Amino acid sequence: MLRYLLLISLVLLSHAAAAVEPPFAIAIHGGAGTIKRSDFSAEQETAYKQKLAEAVEAGHAVLANGGEAMDAVITAIQVLEASPFFNAGVGAVYTFEGGHELDASIMNGANLAAGAVAGVTTVKSPIALARAVMEQSVHVMLSGSGAEQFAEQQGLELVDNSYFNTEARYQQLLKAKQRLGVADYQAYLALDDRFKYGTVGAVALDKHGNLAAGTSTGGMTAKRWGRVGDAPIIGAGTWADNASCAVSATGHGEYFIRYHVAADICSRVKYQGVDIVTAGDTVIHDVLLPAGGTGGVIIIDRQGNVHMPFNTAGMYRAQRIGNQQTEVAIYKN
Ligand code: ASP
Repeated sequence: MLRYLLLISLVLLSHAAAAVEPPFAIAIHGGAGTIKRSDFSAEQETAYKQKLAEAVEAGHAVLANGGEAMDAVITAIQVLEASPFFNAGVGAVYTFEGGHELDASIMNGANLAAGAVAGVTTVKSPIALARAVMEQSVHVMLSGSGAEQFAEQQGLELVDNSYFNTEARYQQLLKAKQRLGVADYQAYLALDDRFKYGTVGAVALDKHGNLAAGTSTGGMTAKRWGRVGDAPIIGAGTWADNASCAVSATGHGEYFIRYHVAADICSRVKYQGVDIVTAGDTVIHDVLLPAGGTGGVIIIDRQGNVHMPFNTAGMYRAQRIGNQQTEVAIYKN
């Protein structure tokens, strides 16, 4: 009898513990743009979706084990950086000169600590370097050769720039250059956005109630003159604040910088008291689009709600909320 009672109370206790398990969630993106169903074979679509699921599940495992949002974000992004499908790490787009210049940033919602790197060419994982800048330097953003010296000092893995090469991106560069003509760089703006986007990012809420966001990219195809986009700019491409939300962006960086998109969304949550759906939809559809800015964001709040608005044909994206099933999507629903 006693044993029976003990068993019952153990079962009740474990149910109670499960009921009060704090919320946790993760969402990722692999870029927004003119992504149409007709561009993919069934096999290609499955391969993209599997990679997105792998990334979100890798991050989810960190959170489910009680790990930190920051670690989950880095883990998920590194899966995408290592994949040739996305414009970050391997598979990064080419600059006009035919190399790769990578940008990344990370932010911790618990204390507003942030780290970013711009225009790095030999660092295998730019998001890992962004984290090192945040944690091991007194600065927020490092760029170019200085950032690379710092990476070496920190013992991060360095690779030849050709490590990021893929044939598909090279062909995109050739096409872009053909369309641009050498003299008319302004024509860049008229390029189909297939040539521009594909950044990766992640946002997470951990069981301790902390938010984090990170973004990593090769930038835009045929970029020149050391162009830096929104991805490494805190407030434009990445933002996290436990008082509001965490955001990672993808799209035409110049607009995301000018409209400080990531921070604007969270400021609306913080000061207007609106939810992430209202804040995200307003900024992406009512502010950015009329101004000419295309792209999208992933947003998470401290309750573990996720919203992923975009104003392009598609955005590679995935989410896993608590222990629910992983949801992966590419096109508009
Ligand atoms: N936002 C990135 C940039 O402008 C591009 C992208 O999202 O794919 O560099």
